[in-house]
Amino acid sequence: MLGRFKGVLGRTEAPAPAPPKAGPRPGKPAPGIAPQRTQPRAQERAPTAEVADAGDEVMPLRGIGSGSRGFATPARPVQPRAVVPVTDISESAEALAELDLFEGKVLTGESGGLPLPKNYRQFIAALDDGTLLVAKSHQASQAVSGARAIIQRANFRDQRILLVKLEDIRKVYHADARRRGLKDTGSDTATMQKAVIELIAAAAANRCSDIHVEVKRFEAQIFMRSDGVMAKVRDMPSATAQDFCQAAFNMADASDASYKPYEFQGARITSLKTPLPEGVQAVRLQFNPLPDGGRYLVARLLYAQKVGKQADIDELGYTANQIFQIKRMRRKPIGINIISGPTGSGKSTTLQRSLDAALRDVNYEKNVITVEDPPEYEIVGARQLPVTNVKTEDERKEAFRAAIAASLRSDPDIVMIGEIRDFASASLAFQAAMTGHQVWASLHANSALSILDRLRDMGVELYRLSDETLVTGLIGQRLVRVLCPHCRLPFAKGVSQGVLPTDRASIVCEALGEEVAERRVFVGNPAGGCENKCRGGFTGRTVVADVIQTDRTFMEYYGRGDKTKAHAYWLDKLEGVTMPENALLKSVSGLVDPREVEDKVGLIDEIDPDRFRALIAAHDAASGK
Ligand SMILES: [Zn+2]
Repeated sequence: MLGRFKGVLGRTEAPAPAPPKAGPRPGKPAPGIAPQRTQPRAQERAPTAEVADAGDEVMPLRGIGSGSRGFATPARPVQPRAVVPVTDISESAEALAELDLFEGKVLTGESGGLPLPKNYRQFIAALDDGTLLVAKSHQASQAVSGARAIIQRANFRDQRILLVKLEDIRKVYHADARRRGLKDTGSDTATMQKAVIELIAAAAANRCSDIHVEVKRFEAQIFMRSDGVMAKVRDMPSATAQDFCQAAFNMADASDASYKPYEFQGARITSLKTPLPEGVQAVRLQFNPLPDGGRYLVARLLYAQKVGKQADIDELGYTANQIFQIKRMRRKPIGINIISGPTGSGKSTTLQRSLDAALRDVNYEKNVITVEDPPEYEIVGARQLPVTNVKTEDERKEAFRAAIAASLRSDPDIVMIGEIRDFASASLAFQAAMTGHQVWASLHANSALSILDRLRDMGVELYRLSDETLVTGLIGQRLVRVLCPHCRLPFAKGVSQGVLPTDRASIVCEALGEEVAERRVFVGNPAGGCENKCRGGFTGRTVVADVIQTDRTFMEYYGRGDKTKAHAYWLDKLEGVTMPENALLKSVSGLVDPREVEDKVGLIDEIDPDRFRALIAAHDAASGK
């Protein structure tokens, strides 16, 4: 074990000279015996201390600093009154990193066989490789002398003493307890679980979507994401944060049986086991290992969705025409409808609301079965099958495929497939449609039209893909932030205040015309928000989407490989609006900052200005302007 520290503390070669007869005088090295190892950088001094025999009076540790080169000390235990080297590693990141790698037994730990009173344990730890860790701040304290007396009476022979910070000792004990799978004492666990609930409640009060806990060697930081933007919330001592992560895991419904601090783990807190704040349905946890024994926990808050008469897709941000088209897809008894977008683009919410409304519309006389990994939101009246007990990606795919196949044998009317991720799940979706079911699914693709390409890449045959009776609906979407109506800045003011750089402003002017830009476009308040409960000048998010309700002509173009024609046909004949156009229309309505359009959706100068002017006119006519 000592070998682990060689790089830090140097080699131990020469035997020590004869030990002195009496204890050292403070501040004065005994002649000729001040042991000194080759020290790592940052450690010029190597204080030493005498070790008294078991039962003897124990001297407090005292530095007898020597700047000179001395002798190395033996690695073997030396009989009575040996000089034990004392090294201050409290500031040496390198030495502490090696200490983190210690995997032996902490003798003064819970089941280490060398029990110490708890108030002593915080200052000292005896490791089974002969290392004694002592809190630098308390090295001369009564507690340390008392603890050393107990340890030595138990026949522990310290071969070296490392001075560290209190928190490092705490960490060593925690790591030891984790290795042995011991639970912390009840009160600590209760305190930590309370802290977890409080953090979730704080996040929920701000409608945050995610909590991030990043635990590094010395400190931990907590971030929260709301409206897609990350913000740091607070710092936390590293050891506390480690306990926090473990407490969160223990509050979750069993997935893995035990917490493994150095592995990737997923878990889920639900109100079955833990009382969650009102409005929070579940919290999905993802634990990731970081270097140096760190941990990175991401907790996704799943809010209870509005259920009841009003819950539908209407207020999510789709245009009137898009809402009409999506509801029409719902009315078709047979066919696949796929919704695409990156993580956090609101796909789950759309699917949940849509299925919720579909079931309500038929008075729950249809059987809706969902296969999700894991189920995100509760869908009233639906049978939601989870994908469980998987470890590897291959197992996950297989379990997912098996669950979809099972759903098809379970007499469904409507099947929802959480995510089509490979050929197996894609072909089951087509099989479901071909056997007379309505299918909803999500998929990672950049736009409605690219869903077809993505399915082709997975291996779905073109003749199936281009069958408009099988593929009935394609939706691509993103979420963009909505400007706070109270503190948004008019376009001209935003430019004059430098919020919107002139090059970006001129792109907006070219697309819309200067008059429209100045009269109708707004930008976010750079002052970081106002008193109207807005966050950084924004309040909530809205969907921007492109929706294709397929028909025979569209699919004929696509099936022939003429994507350009299919796209043009959709825009001209099927009243298609692209996602960037949809987003820019929201800018013209003063809802969305043009920077948000470009950052989240697409470049404004790629939008056809003539076509866009016609879209504005149609939009104004429809909304009675
Ligand atoms: Zn505001």
